[in-house]
Amino acid sequence: MKKIKKNNKKKKIIFIGVIVLLILVAVITILIFGGKKTDLVLIKDLDVEINSDITLLSFVDEVKNGTIVSKDKEIDTSKLGNQNLVIEVKNGNKTKEYKFTINVVDTTKPEIDARSEITTTVGDEVDLLEGVTVSDNSKEEIKVEIKGEYDYDKEGEYELEYYAKDSSGNEISKKFKLIVVSDPDNMTFTTSKGFKGEVIDGVTYIDGVLIANKTYSLPSDYGNGLTSATQSAFDKMNADAKSLGLSLWIASGYRSYWTQNTLYNNYVASDGKEEADTYSARPGYSEHQTGLAFDLNSVEDSFANTDEGKWVKDNCYRYGLIIRYPKGKESITGYIYEPWHLRYVGVDLATKLYNDGDWITLEEYFGIDSKYGD
Ligand SMILES: [Zn+2]
Repeated sequence: MKKIKKNNKKKKIIFIGVIVLLILVAVITILIFGGKKTDLVLIKDLDVEINSDITLLSFVDEVKNGTIVSKDKEIDTSKLGNQNLVIEVKNGNKTKEYKFTINVVDTTKPEIDARSEITTTVGDEVDLLEGVTVSDNSKEEIKVEIKGEYDYDKEGEYELEYYAKDSSGNEISKKFKLIVVSDPDNMTFTTSKGFKGEVIDGVTYIDGVLIANKTYSLPSDYGNGLTSATQSAFDKMNADAKSLGLSLWIASGYRSYWTQNTLYNNYVASDGKEEADTYSARPGYSEHQTGLAFDLNSVEDSFANTDEGKWVKDNCYRYGLIIRYPKGKESITGYIYEPWHLRYVGVDLATKLYNDGDWITLEEYFGIDSKYGD
């Protein structure tokens, strides 16, 4: 009886020993392998557009158990093709390297900036590539070709195309019209929105509305002061503004070709041609020469935030006046936002362009460009 008892006690001790040993092994395993397994989940799409801004850790979708040790850094995406990357993840006291491959690709089309309409006189050849620029995310030099047939010796409207292709095969084409006429100062044409354009003695009217912008210029002798309709539109607006306690005045109204010439050349001298072109018209291209435009008050960006500026923006259309160079339309009008520059177009058109405060430009409405030829 005694012997059996002793035997049982021995078995018990061995059993406990084994349990303790198993627990020890488990604890050591957890210490070494950090418990749960680490897993780094990458985003699905590892294709990256050439010359795009992307960082190492933007490829990580999720980290399961562990923390990323690798510092985030910019990835060089200037060359096409595969690129191997590594991200280190720490879990407990173990660090694991995750290697993966991204692919730099170019799937973006080049962009062509060009006039959509070029007019010339019969027999007078023009450089159709003058002022045409092409840009692409690959930053490579890309040649622009002209597709279509045309004849400088024959009057007509030629529908042509600018065409460009980058080294990855992404193509772009942009339609334009070459108009060959016997007298560019007296001609008619149709805009891309189907409006009738008419040039009379070098002055362009679209649907009867005089247009002066970077595409359509005025003869140097055109204009003599604000038109009576423009002046009276301002007077009516000013009277209503006054009754609300607002103070408006015309800081700059009609400007002759020669005044604009001096002004523009001064701006070019101080800021350079490229910058001057964003805010000042070249002589012959200024709306101030039409006698249908004027600048209000301070002629400063801050005018937009004054009580006068806010009221004018939402009410000038009632008097037939428009904010000619609205915010966010710089690439369309060719000019920066000018909350102070108003243009008279008549109440009907002004009301359409007001568009509940989301101003439509004359260029958008008529389907015309505002681009210099060079
Ligand atoms: Zn102005």
